[in-house]
Amino acid sequence: MNEDFYQTLKDILRDEQILIEEPLAKHTTFQIGGPAEFLLLPENNHQVAALVKVLCEKNMPFYVIGNGSNLLVSDKGYKGTIIKIGQCMSNIVVREYDGSRYLVQAGSGVLLSKLANKIAEHELTGFEFASGIPGSLGGAVTMNAGAYGGEIKDSIMGATVVDQSGSMMYLNKEDLKLGYRKSIIQEKNYIVLDASFVFEPGNKDDIRNKMDDLNERRRDKQPLEYPSAGSTFKRPEGYFAGKLIMDAGLRGYQVGNAQISEKHCGFVINKGGATAADIMTLITEVRQIVFDKFGVMLEPEVRLLGEF
Ligand SMILES: Cc1cc2nc3c(=O)[nH]c(=O)nc-3n(C[C@H](O)[C@H](O)[C@H](O)COP(=O)(O)OP(=O)(O)OC[C@H]3O[C@@H](n4cnc5c(N)ncnc54)[C@H](O)[C@@H]3O)c2cc1C
Repeated sequence: MNEDFYQTLKDILRDEQILIEEPLAKHTTFQIGGPAEFLLLPENNHQVAALVKVLCEKNMPFYVIGNGSNLLVSDKGYKGTIIKIGQCMSNIVVREYDGSRYLVQAGSGVLLSKLANKIAEHELTGFEFASGIPGSLGGAVTMNAGAYGGEIKDSIMGATVVDQSGSMMYLNKEDLKLGYRKSIIQEKNYIVLDASFVFEPGNKDDIRNKMDDLNERRRDKQPLEYPSAGSTFKRPEGYFAGKLIMDAGLRGYQVGNAQISEKHCGFVINKGGATAADIMTLITEVRQIVFDKFGVMLEPEVRLLGEF
């Protein structure tokens, strides 16, 4: 362990916020991934900025994660520091914005399910689509997460971010450059600290019914009983990844314990004990087979971390 670095970390964080050689399998929904040298759990914006500043000054590699629901981490883990923005940074504030609309500001560690429920409690509409996405707000802004016709881009006003030198700034909606599963955050490796949204009041029962309906559709169609990272591939223009994979005859196709879900071919699942290498081999083979059959090269939506 790097003792010097550990001492520097202790100037910013308490002992229990510093995990050493922490298995990342415990922090990803795939339940896969070797250890990170350090995994840090900051509690506020200033701690995140201070950590980034130190890591940059020392020229040490680091990576930010939220709920790990869109991540495939190498079996060898990550040779560097993980900053996990989670429950400790999940405060939510709701207040009047203008005559009819309300502003919702939330820490980037809040889970989308919790945020969607809070917004529903306030009888505001426009975030129902996100209630079943198992990510954090920071990950969702970064990925411009979306489902069932809604996406983060629809209601976001802006976000506070930290750049790679530890400087904080506010980016408004236009600055965030949100597109299909992309944002300026990914391009510039910014870190999202919090985000604000504007919503209109809605009917309480309609909001709840919509959330229940969407979550039921998820349970019906998606293999939620297995660890996964959701849709493995982005939607290619004019096609659906899951349909291409199914039409290529790959339903249930397996490498080691990684499998193309029989329930939803767009999901690669961990059947139990799959390695990152199994998942990668499966992804590579599926991309090649689909390309050979249909001339479409599927692009992974899942983000890769570590050596492959
Ligand atoms: C069962 C299941 C269903 C899913 N359904 C959907 C769906 O319907 N729609 C959808 O869009 N996605 C879906 N996903 C994928 C995933 O939940 C989303 O992409 C989610 O937004 C990722 O958030 P996260 O906090 O888990 O991010 P992580 O997986 O931790 O990270 C993903 C990326 O975001 C970056 N990141 C995370 N937090 C921050 C931060 N605070 N600042 C800067 N960068 C950050 C990471 O560096 C990484 O590049 C699903 C996943 C699963 C497992």
